[in-house]
Amino acid sequence: MTGSAVVVGAGVGGLAVAIGLRRAGWRVTLLERRTELERYGTAFALHPTAQDALDRLGVGAAVRRRAVPYRCAQVRTPDGRVLARLPLERVERKAGRPELLISRPYLIDALADELDALGGVTVAFGENVADVAALSAEHDLLVGADGLRSAVRAARFGADSGPRKVGSTAWIGIADFASSVHGETWGKGRFFGLTPVEPGRTNWYAAVPEGTTAVELPDLFEDWHDPIPRILAETDPTSWLCYEMRHLSPALPTFVHDGRGGSGGHGGRVALVGDAAHAMTPNLGQGACTAVLDAEALARAVVQHGHTGLPDALRAYDRERRRSAQRVAFASRSLHRFVSTEHTRLRDAAARLLPG
Ligand SMILES: Cc1cc2nc3c(=O)[nH]c(=O)nc-3n(C[C@H](O)[C@H](O)[C@H](O)COP(=O)(O)OP(=O)(O)OC[C@H]3O[C@@H](n4cnc5c(N)ncnc54)[C@H](O)[C@@H]3O)c2cc1C
Repeated sequence: MTGSAVVVGAGVGGLAVAIGLRRAGWRVTLLERRTELERYGTAFALHPTAQDALDRLGVGAAVRRRAVPYRCAQVRTPDGRVLARLPLERVERKAGRPELLISRPYLIDALADELDALGGVTVAFGENVADVAALSAEHDLLVGADGLRSAVRAARFGADSGPRKVGSTAWIGIADFASSVHGETWGKGRFFGLTPVEPGRTNWYAAVPEGTTAVELPDLFEDWHDPIPRILAETDPTSWLCYEMRHLSPALPTFVHDGRGGSGGHGGRVALVGDAAHAMTPNLGQGACTAVLDAEALARAVVQHGHTGLPDALRAYDRERRRSAQRVAFASRSLHRFVSTEHTRLRDAAARLLPG
């Protein structure tokens, strides 16, 4: 016998959980507050472990069709001096496959197409979930995949459990020309990243002090190495996205509520995945990867323990994912501190620590 689950949020994590649970034969309802799937966003890195998880969810081949390999990238100073190499070759040697980059819309499409193909999942748009306890009472499992400002996390851990600002804003975009330079350039209190995303295009991001406007951005990078000034001059500022950099601190004591005991304001069984569980700064490019790994691990634990073993499944999921995801979040936050420092000596020391 299988159960019924409601998944709150149709981003990367929510779509992936819905696929995993549906594959296991569960009745799944997916609730999204927006009126349709948001098909915007720039490139996501997919580490080989996340690619393995996508394979297990049946989406790996579709993702690989639209993704590009990320094989060679350096850390530079603003005048173009190479400080270090990013450890991409090492990742590929160890895993036997390269890190990939995929634009967010393509990843969302691949997941949504798989969900369609599986059939039997009720997807409701325009559903802004506020009453988590009532929703939880109607289902065997409630999954909070509702991102940075998760209502499910707030219901379980209180409104103060939200992620904190880290003092930086990221402007991100895609340029319509290929760059031969990839990697990150670390300046004083700001940094710029360039990655492939699809043939003939370049994904870029600029992390700057919070509050920096699009109008101010080109001046901050005008004397940086090629093609950074050109990217900012030749892409349309109305296409740039402004992305808040936040980090969930303190880290959560658990990603689940197994339905026993009264803590959390309601007795339902709840699991958090993705940014809802461990929102992190994007420095290590692990936001989408960790959401996919969480989703697949949760679905796998549910399959292994069966419907009647749901409390055990939730505890197994928490054991497999919490420490690991929180370590990644902590490392990403620490890297952010070094990279956004005004002290170039500290920045250069951080670059030397990269295991390239
Ligand atoms: C539109 C969009 C564009 C993004 N673009 C980028 C990007 O270019 N680069 C980057 O590094 N990261 C980007 N991100 C963040 C990135 O997708 C996540 O960090 C990562 O993929 C983890 O995904 P997630 O599923 O946990 O959270 P998210 O991708 O944030 O998905 C959460 C989903 O839950 C929905 N939701 C939230 N609250 C409720 C509620 N109360 N009821 C119902 N639904 C709710 C949201 O609308 C959203 O669809 C973007 C996120 C979004 C939503």
